[in-house]
Amino acid sequence: MLKVEGLKAGYGAINILWDISFEIADGEIVAILGSNGAGKTTMVRAITGMIRPSAGSVQFNGEELAKKSSRAILDHGIIQVPEGRQIFTEMSVLENLEMGAFNKQAKAAFDKNLEMAYTWFPKLKERSKQAAGTLSGGEQQMLAVARALIGMPKLLILDEPSLGLAPNIVDDILAVAASMARKDGIAVMLVEQDITKALACADRGYVIENGHISLSGTSRELESNEHVKKAYLGI
Ligand code: ATP
Repeated sequence: MLKVEGLKAGYGAINILWDISFEIADGEIVAILGSNGAGKTTMVRAITGMIRPSAGSVQFNGEELAKKSSRAILDHGIIQVPEGRQIFTEMSVLENLEMGAFNKQAKAAFDKNLEMAYTWFPKLKERSKQAAGTLSGGEQQMLAVARALIGMPKLLILDEPSLGLAPNIVDDILAVAASMARKDGIAVMLVEQDITKALACADRGYVIENGHISLSGTSRELESNEHVKKAYLGI
């Protein structure tokens, strides 16, 4: 489904990503792992069209997206939950969810998808009329995930969903993402610093270090890799 090859990107004259190549298949959960500043968010920005890659290709279901606008990429079904959530704090929970239905197809299916979102995250239903800014951090992350799912993604990108959240809330959010992948065949790209949680949920993973992919493998392979253990798991 997603095939990234030789991706190079950065900010102005500063290059951050060098020759990044990886793939994600339908229904697969793939973790993109790395420490602070490794280039994970830059990679998300390059794939979603928020910054333009200086080289390489981003193919999605056979179509080249590397030079397309972020709106066009969104229309292809690549939807991200950005780092820091970026919900509209003054608007109600329901209004935020309505913003997720950004095209005709998602608008037509909104009522059905809203019911589904409320089934995944019942707290959002209870708080549907409340201003989103009054939700707890965990509930705001749930809202950000639900809003993305209302857009009917083919590839869902979660950028650091665990940031600042209690472990049990992270588990709930990852369980919903996993269920979407398993039941509906949605591909999930899980960008995380919490490597233990990410590998527990993902099928495979890639490790980014200094803008390069330094390692890749199944979650089991990465968990038992000596470098991963020492550098990231502290064991
Ligand atoms: P984090 O977990 O902290 O988000 P990350 O792996 O996502 O880390 P990036 O945010 O991609 O890392 O940052 C990679 C490098 O790019 C860092 O050196 C960062 O300072 C730099 N960088 C990020 N955003 C910008 C920007 N808008 N302009 C210039 N440099 C940037």
